[in-house]
Amino acid sequence: MTNLASLLVSSARAHGERTAVRQDGTVLTYAALEDASARLAGLLHADGVRPGDRVALVLPNVALFPVAYYAVLRVGAVAVPMNPLLKAREMAFVLRDSGARTVLTAPPLADEVAGAAAETGAGSLIVEASAFDTLLGGIPPLHGVAERAAADTAVILYTSGTTGTPKGAELTHHNLLSNAVTCVETLFELGPDDVLFGGLPLFHAFGQTCAMNAAVAAGAALTLLPRFDPQQALEILRRDGVTVFLGVPTMYTALLNSGAPDGDGLPLVRLAVSGGSALPVEVLHTFERAFGTVVLEGYGLSETAPVASFNHPDRPRRPGSIGLPVRGVELKLVAADRTPVGPGEVGEIAIRGDNVMKGYWNRPEATAEAFQDGWFHTGDLARVDEDGFYSIVDRSKDLIIRGGYNVYPREIEEVLYEHPAVAEAAVVGVPDEHHGEEVAAVIVLREGERTTADLIREHVRRRVAAYKYPRIVTFTDQLPKGATGKILKREIVVEQPAAT
Ligand code: AMP
Repeated sequence: MTNLASLLVSSARAHGERTAVRQDGTVLTYAALEDASARLAGLLHADGVRPGDRVALVLPNVALFPVAYYAVLRVGAVAVPMNPLLKAREMAFVLRDSGARTVLTAPPLADEVAGAAAETGAGSLIVEASAFDTLLGGIPPLHGVAERAAADTAVILYTSGTTGTPKGAELTHHNLLSNAVTCVETLFELGPDDVLFGGLPLFHAFGQTCAMNAAVAAGAALTLLPRFDPQQALEILRRDGVTVFLGVPTMYTALLNSGAPDGDGLPLVRLAVSGGSALPVEVLHTFERAFGTVVLEGYGLSETAPVASFNHPDRPRRPGSIGLPVRGVELKLVAADRTPVGPGEVGEIAIRGDNVMKGYWNRPEATAEAFQDGWFHTGDLARVDEDGFYSIVDRSKDLIIRGGYNVYPREIEEVLYEHPAVAEAAVVGVPDEHHGEEVAAVIVLREGERTTADLIREHVRRRVAAYKYPRIVTFTDQLPKGATGKILKREIVVEQPAAT
């Protein structure tokens, strides 16, 4: 089994009548998902799509997403999933950069996509397929799956990576398939009775591998939420009997702050998985208590398909740590000159193994810069303990240097989350005449809570070294977040001048 789409074909064979995907009123069994993707593959083939061609997907988390994704892979083409919230100009960049010949989208997005396609010139075709079950009904299916080598590119994921403008991470069939199967077998221990929460965007590596491909590999059900909202999430967790919740930390805080009453647990959720950014330890414990489930944190990047490390279910976990390398993957820490760091020291995580991308699409220089001797350099700083558990200190580019001392925002954020009035917190550096940079905290308070900048400052000052605590503390209603719900530090504007 080399083509990633074979996962769907085998699950349809083994679990044809079981639910594969649920989204609002639409329910697709594995047989129906397999048939719809074969028909859309027929349509793509008739339109001239051939192995190796790039086909962009501009779709929210709707049932058409998996249909389109596996259809593209079945014809041997390369899927280029895009954030459906992009504007035409941003979409045009990805279409041009990837050389996509076809775009698959659904009607509400068709205007934006048409604008982007027009900018990139000839070669793009828009298949409007919202009512795909009726639309695809008349199309002869393309049975089977195009043969692909394990090292052939399956998907290109656009990511800003560690620096600069978006680049396409070229993930192979082997990268994605092995990572999904690892999720099923060793990380989430999934079976056909599981129901996975599909609120993470499927165009992003976390949702794509850990929710969609893992569910399909296990013959489990995926319940989709087109746009994350804590109330709706709670509703579908209960309605669909979700057994495995997957989310980024801001989803955890949103669920905790949405007023889910104490004791109103979700007994069916047996496992909650966090990744994408650091889960504050306080949030982990509060969530476990409120929802009566275990939370396991992992770490990864688009470039690593994505999971590189995890707090494995069969071993003791370490809250606040990203766990141990996953099956078939190695991690190491290196200094700025890429030599190994000493024991206990902070270094940049480098990754090697089954999950590491081929390189950045058409970017030999960026690829050469990221790789050395087969190791991919992540830009994330971490420590490793004597048992081999890694803990992220921060991203190297988020590091604040105040008066010559390193301040890792993550450490300060952990302390802020311990304050009972704090719902969300981000710590950033702002330019400062005397210290080069000053530490600033931007806080979202829990509903109904009140406190002052002085009290927050004092809370941190008592818990960390004097050079680290935030001299600047401001409050806001919400923090800027990316499509996956990660807090976008670069977009945070700190308005208040330094307090004395
Ligand atoms: P993306 O390519 O969008 O998945 O972003 C990858 C980045 O997310 C990594 O380089 C890390 O900076 C961050 N990240 C992912 N998981 C974690 C985690 N568990 N803790 C801290 N940062 C994380």
